[in-house]
Amino acid sequence: MQIVKTIAEVRRLVSTVRQEGKRIGFVPTMGALHNGHVSLMKTARKQCDYVVVSIFVNPTQFGPSEDFEKYPRNLDSDAITCRKTGVDLVFAPSVKDMYPRENWTWVEVENLTKSLCGAHRPGHFRGVTTVCTKLFNIVDSDMAFFGQKDAQQAIVIRRMMADLHLPLEIVICPTVRESDGLAVSSRNQYLKPTERKDASLLYHALTICEDLARKGENRVKVLIAAMQQVLGRSVAIEPEYIQIVDLDTLEPLETIDRPALVALAARLGTTRLIDNIILDLNVSSGDV
Ligand code: AMP
Repeated sequence: MQIVKTIAEVRRLVSTVRQEGKRIGFVPTMGALHNGHVSLMKTARKQCDYVVVSIFVNPTQFGPSEDFEKYPRNLDSDAITCRKTGVDLVFAPSVKDMYPRENWTWVEVENLTKSLCGAHRPGHFRGVTTVCTKLFNIVDSDMAFFGQKDAQQAIVIRRMMADLHLPLEIVICPTVRESDGLAVSSRNQYLKPTERKDASLLYHALTICEDLARKGENRVKVLIAAMQQVLGRSVAIEPEYIQIVDLDTLEPLETIDRPALVALAARLGTTRLIDNIILDLNVSSGDV
């Protein structure tokens, strides 16, 4: 496995591999790698001949009061995880490499980004779509792998690729969870022990919603009230949003009459967590 920091070096290595006719898979991450990232890498490993992982904490997707500075960074242990998982190339650029001058060019998906997390994190998705476009141009892979954990992000990226006629195939992989259901996240390490315990209620609320919907309850108001009630069991949880939206357009639904995304965000102390399930009553599981 190689670890490179410069754009020129990644381009050189990837173009050599491309000339050999190999299929290239790309997993963009912000590091602090965990089992969620590993599952993306393993899927890429199965579907591609050469796997590139980027590790870059992208400043433009963080708001001024968010955790950019304190976001966990540990390239050495991330490199060990990548090596063990069979990654071929780790690309770990500096901010200066990715943003060598004041950035005047932004890629923005105008719809899909104003609701859910977009409503609470202004500019976040513009930062994500811009950095992904830069990374996709640099790495030049055939496929890129994203997690359902960040469902809105994956849906926004898919739309960006379609709107811009970019040929890269986007694969969305299921959310990896801890044994109590909490979605694995680099931010879970910020949680105090009592907050960590209560955090499992987030997924519990989503499963209650799915159970009720499968029993025939299709009124969104009723389903949201049931989820609010579950989160209300902990004083530590401050819900930011709980919504049920159309899976493609992310528009709010009143009844579950088509595939839906059930998404929530909540604060536990200073930590913001998100989670979601897909509710497609024609298929059996909430995670794709
Ligand atoms: P991040 O490093 O948080 O930017 O995440 C990098 C990629 O890993 C994104 O596509 C995330 O959706 C994905 N990811 C993060 N957590 C999980 C998880 N628990 N299960 C599956 N994918 C995840």
